[in-house]
Amino acid sequence: MENQNISIEDMANFCKRKGFVYPSAEIYGGFSGFWDYGPLGVELKNNLKKFWWKFHVHNREDIVGVDGSIITNPKVWKASGHVDNFSDILVFCPKCKKTDKIDKHEIKKVKCDCEGEFDWEKSKEIKQMLETNVGLKGSAYLRPETAQSIFINFKSVYDNSRGKLPFGIAQIGKAFRNEIAPRDFLFRCREFEQMEIEYFVDPKEKFPYELGDNKISIFSEDMQKNNKETTEISFKEAFNKKILKTKWHAYWLEKEYLWFISLGANPENLRIRQHVSKEKSHYALDTWDIEYKFPFGWKEVHGMANRSNYDLNQHQKNSQKKLKVINLNNEKILPTVYEPSQGVERALLVFLFDAYTYDEKRKNIVLKLHPQLAPIKTAILPLVKNNSKIIKISKDIFNELKKDFNIVYDESGSIGRRYSRNDEIGTPFCVTIDEDSIKNKDVTIRNRDTTKQKRIKISELKNILTSLIKKEINFDKIK
Ligand code: ATP
Repeated sequence: MENQNISIEDMANFCKRKGFVYPSAEIYGGFSGFWDYGPLGVELKNNLKKFWWKFHVHNREDIVGVDGSIITNPKVWKASGHVDNFSDILVFCPKCKKTDKIDKHEIKKVKCDCEGEFDWEKSKEIKQMLETNVGLKGSAYLRPETAQSIFINFKSVYDNSRGKLPFGIAQIGKAFRNEIAPRDFLFRCREFEQMEIEYFVDPKEKFPYELGDNKISIFSEDMQKNNKETTEISFKEAFNKKILKTKWHAYWLEKEYLWFISLGANPENLRIRQHVSKEKSHYALDTWDIEYKFPFGWKEVHGMANRSNYDLNQHQKNSQKKLKVINLNNEKILPTVYEPSQGVERALLVFLFDAYTYDEKRKNIVLKLHPQLAPIKTAILPLVKNNSKIIKISKDIFNELKKDFNIVYDESGSIGRRYSRNDEIGTPFCVTIDEDSIKNKDVTIRNRDTTKQKRIKISELKNILTSLIKKEINFDKIK
């Protein structure tokens, strides 16, 4: 797998051309920071969310899901600290005449990308929460993160689920931020989706898992401050060497790394970087990001904070409601929280960049998405248009398979053209039906990544496709 070094603008154009993602309201000139998903994009995004949920909720016994409201009582945002702390600084560079955003701690310490000095007189603080009106009561906020609806429901969800620490609550949903400089396509939007877990632990309890030996490139605060290079290290070793301070932090970083890999991300394009003290959010004790090597540099795709019991404590104080739970020693505690926080859009970019390949031989783009993520699983392609028997078999296969998979039926254009159309949008397998299919009751199945073909019985097609999509069997092993 190789990142083919296309730019983010090329990726945005590709996504628009193929119907993955369009600029929102393009017929009116667009609207910066907002995007609409097209027919292929919505399928890809739904698959991504489905497999995140499966990995983090259904495949575990200690995590349950919720779906909170986007707008809630503004007191929540006062208590969480967002009303007072969640802002960016707008800066202007007189040299290149561009505006940009920086963090508060960077004031008077950073320069523009063009090396020009920012005009600090003109800098101003911009609140990142978007406001709206609700009924007669006046203003409320669109949530800037999904986390808070988990914290405010923690006690009810824990009791309803007969929870025991360690215990997690997961949520997928929209978040909104008034980003000063939305850019880089889906990377920085004003409306986006998060897939978040708040994982509650008793730090005094024994850690119940084993850390694995998977290696990743690591960039700690110490390495950044002392201009050291990143090193490859296993999560276990990073904990043993006290680079990762707690086993829980190491555990969750490793899990998230494995989630990316399980859906086809290239491990060479991932690393973990610790926040230096000044960039940490107001609630965080220690934060590590999973970063991806984008064409515009290493950037955060996943944030993993140790939020301690900051949020539960704040909500307990401000709501005057008891939020403590009983630990194994029968003591009432406010648990410590680890927060794996994943943006849907940034994850989509990771999988799209790692899948995007230009095949010199085919002279065509091949989007090598993991079959589970691919928007369309199979294309049914009759080889001869005017043979009613072939069309009948093809339509029967299509009608049967569409009960289980999102597939297409396509009889227009040459077979080469139909293959390349499907390669470009990531369809992992094409099925062709020809004259031999009539007497032999079989079809040809073609592998997108290798163009290899196999002849299989129609009666076995559904089972074989199911196993191929789940990567339970290797295409070359099909008999
Ligand atoms: P950045 O430093 O890039 O602004 P952040 O540190 O503010 O990001 P978090 O608050 O940690 O981001 O949010 C968790 C995750 O939500 C991020 O890792 C990212 O995947 C996603 N995310 C945050 N802001 C945006 C945005 N404006 N557009 C798209 N995704 C975002």
